[in-house]
Amino acid sequence: MFSLSQFPLQFQEKALSPYMSEQTLQYHHGKHLATYIKNLNDLIIGTEYESMPLHEIIKKAILKPEDKKIFNNAAQVFNHDFFFKCLKPNGGGKTLEEITAHFKSEEKFITEFKNAATSLFGSGWVWLVKDGNNIKIIQMANADTPIAYNLIPIMTIDVWEHAYYLDYQNRRADFVDAFLNHTVNWDFVKENLN
Ligand code: MN
Repeated sequence: MFSLSQFPLQFQEKALSPYMSEQTLQYHHGKHLATYIKNLNDLIIGTEYESMPLHEIIKKAILKPEDKKIFNNAAQVFNHDFFFKCLKPNGGGKTLEEITAHFKSEEKFITEFKNAATSLFGSGWVWLVKDGNNIKIIQMANADTPIAYNLIPIMTIDVWEHAYYLDYQNRRADFVDAFLNHTVNWDFVKENLN
């Protein structure tokens, strides 16, 4: 029987402080992600999804409105694992040249990414994705995820309030700045580009 277990963080919970606090990671990784994993495991017992890899669960469940709960939990498991891999201590700062070249300048990339992250209404994710030969920034609501549409994820920021409220309250823009300036794992982003 397939049973997904918690994805470990690649760093200590306190390692991103003060940009993302130990308490935020204790809740976000230790409780929110853990709950999505438990819900997914509970929901797929005895179903056609039981022995599928996570990607396949997502691609199949999105086609079936009656499996919306399974889609939401599976997508949130994927999205969170990907988001936590996009983080590292002493990260952020200078944008990868491959990205800068595509967006014409670092400033244009940062402006577009920040605008997308701050203007997304409600809960969701902003993604940098590969769409064929193109790379672009997209907003996705709630649990939605690029892999459901055969887009290749390169980098993401979680803009659900639980991602930043303990540290930044209503100041989502400050959270986005801290993410870009201090915590992006450019090594992981680069792997996804290639
Ligand atoms: Mn989250």
